[in-house]
Amino acid sequence: MEIWVRDGKKPKPHSSLFYELASNSAFIHERTDLWDSVTEASEVRGLKPGKCSLRLKMPPIPRLLIREIVQFFAWIYKEHGTEVAVLLSYNLQKKLYAPVVPEQVTTHGSIHYNLQNITLKDGYLLVGSLHSHCDFGAFHSGIDEHDEADFDGIHVTFGKFSDEKGANSFEASIEAAIRGTRFVLDPVYWLSGVKPAKIIKIKEENDMDLLFTFDDKSRVLPPSYKPDDDWVNKVTAKKRRSRLRFGRRALGKFYESLRDKFGSYNIPKSHQAIDKRDGESLDFQDKDLFWKDTPGFH
Ligand SMILES: [Zn+2]
Repeated sequence: MEIWVRDGKKPKPHSSLFYELASNSAFIHERTDLWDSVTEASEVRGLKPGKCSLRLKMPPIPRLLIREIVQFFAWIYKEHGTEVAVLLSYNLQKKLYAPVVPEQVTTHGSIHYNLQNITLKDGYLLVGSLHSHCDFGAFHSGIDEHDEADFDGIHVTFGKFSDEKGANSFEASIEAAIRGTRFVLDPVYWLSGVKPAKIIKIKEENDMDLLFTFDDKSRVLPPSYKPDDDWVNKVTAKKRRSRLRFGRRALGKFYESLRDKFGSYNIPKSHQAIDKRDGESLDFQDKDLFWKDTPGFH
């Protein structure tokens, strides 16, 4: 069947039946004696179904780098009570990752940096980002997904950093975003040196909690830890009253109740990526409503 590409230049065909490929979807144009219709081509009769997929060609993020970043996140939270972000760059030839700390303004619920101002080392490509959610869960918020829609790569969120004595775990969640399609990745495979701290409940094979720790018993924030001055100097931490309608703690509880209700992420095994829409992913259907009163929540 004829396919019309809506590029703003090609004229519309005169056929009575043709497909349209537009920026937002594919459509079927049909002209009959009874009606002229344009309908969404969600199903094309006679063709086999396609599927989103992703195979990342980079290696897992090395353990020393993960540790450096997690400890920095925990330290910033302890010192300033705010989130913070580190970008991830990668050298294809050397197969090496390098962290990039952007100039950023952080609060307990937001991070602002400008990707245009990032300078990468020679030979390095920007391949992703990592950021913290302080004491809050490590899911990818609506704002994260919005920010990452134009930032292809792997995105990691860490959260549930705790000031409680003896606490030595954190939440971690890793997803890839490619042209706005999101894929859930396995934190244990991609974040070297990280293992599940405990499994809260298992309902199905892939169900596990998102709480992690270092596999060699290293502290999340050792008492002797001193962050790199170059990193700290890039961060302007602003203390402000949370603009959240609910307190943080209440928000965390609300999030946990949602998780209980909908189940945890469908976490793929090893290097596989699962299209987020395929898995029983934690997708806040009502999040627009919920996040409406939380400007800047990251
Ligand atoms: Zn976030």
